[in-house]
Amino acid sequence: MVRLENFYNYPGIFADRLKKLHNVDILFFSAEKMDDYDEQTNTGWVHLQAIANRKYNIDLLIKIENNNFNLKSPAKANCSCPSFEYEFAWILYHRDGLAFPTMYWYQFNVMYPSPPKKRNKHHVIAGCKHIVKFAHVIHPRYLGNGNFRLDVVTDPRLQIQVEIAMLNRQVIKMYGRNPSEAMRLQRKIQSLYAKIAY
Ligand SMILES: [Zn+2]
Repeated sequence: MVRLENFYNYPGIFADRLKKLHNVDILFFSAEKMDDYDEQTNTGWVHLQAIANRKYNIDLLIKIENNNFNLKSPAKANCSCPSFEYEFAWILYHRDGLAFPTMYWYQFNVMYPSPPKKRNKHHVIAGCKHIVKFAHVIHPRYLGNGNFRLDVVTDPRLQIQVEIAMLNRQVIKMYGRNPSEAMRLQRKIQSLYAKIAY
């Protein structure tokens, strides 16, 4: 099982990446209870979403118990950046630490069934710098007593940014597979950017 501490601490081999965390800007925009969440005991999985550096989409799932979580809480993550995809997704997929693993089923069962040999060849369980920074942002130390409010930001500008991040994720997947669809999505992204331009 993967725990929040796996996304909070960098193991020795990646320790130098802590220096890069100050360059990561996190826009934490939603926290939602997942289907299994029990309202009586306030226990179950919650899905936290954020955007890193206005570009990458982050999903972090944490198992809350009695309305609390800590570094030992079970957790799963996903980030749309290349570091996450090439270094951490494979091992997390195989350790039940990947959020929404069905997205990766084809990739890790058909395209790359064997482990990566160059990037993260020791199969260290960790996250990209975006995930690690997000884990720091939501850590109970910053929220007080581990209780957190499931706030959802409703600023339409933020929602457009979220939409753009989602579309960017699709574009990455479409290139090489369906170039005309990728172009169509790119145009849609441009029009969304125009809406939120100052
Ligand atoms: Zn990332």
